[in-house]
Amino acid sequence: MTQRLVSKLIDSNVFVYENNDKVLIFDGGAELEDVKKAVGNKKVVAVFLTHGHYDHSFFALEYAKAFACKIYASQFAKEYLQDSEKNYSEGKFAVSDFSDFVFLKGDGKISLCDLEIHYFQLGGHSKSDMAFLVKDEVFVGDVLIGRDMGRIDLYGGDKNEMIKSLKRLLDCKYTTMHSGHGQDNTKFQEDKVAKLWLKFLNR
Ligand SMILES: [Zn+2]
Repeated sequence: MTQRLVSKLIDSNVFVYENNDKVLIFDGGAELEDVKKAVGNKKVVAVFLTHGHYDHSFFALEYAKAFACKIYASQFAKEYLQDSEKNYSEGKFAVSDFSDFVFLKGDGKISLCDLEIHYFQLGGHSKSDMAFLVKDEVFVGDVLIGRDMGRIDLYGGDKNEMIKSLKRLLDCKYTTMHSGHGQDNTKFQEDKVAKLWLKFLNR
């Protein structure tokens, strides 16, 4: 079961993924109290960040401390997390101690709580975009958001990287897509969005 929490800070999503009384958290924009309520007495084994923008990472360190777990993110997320201009928090958020972080390179697989988490490097919205596939659910951050494409005009955004990402998501086998903002969607709906944007970007 996956619960979607919406941050009060800014309308970003946090997902609480549950499997056999163990929990994975995707993104860090929702207040710790709300995450604790959603987690209940289950054990949080890891936090994953889809990218380094502050609305997806602001409370992640609070989760790591409260649940005594690590935060997994792309190797390129560090540049964003440590710089409040690049993470768009306007001076409010910059990480200086990375001891709770595990940085991931490229594509791979992590085995945690009887689950395999496949991760793959995306891009286009930021240099730090990473998608996580757990069984038939994919967490994509702001590459695709609520039936639309994420912004490519922010720092590190890139049209050609976005084209690659959209193709990658078209090839990805999943049933439900969880985006950084907005509602969950089916593969059918998101494939339609990705194809439309590919047509536009390739003009
Ligand atoms: Zn973003």
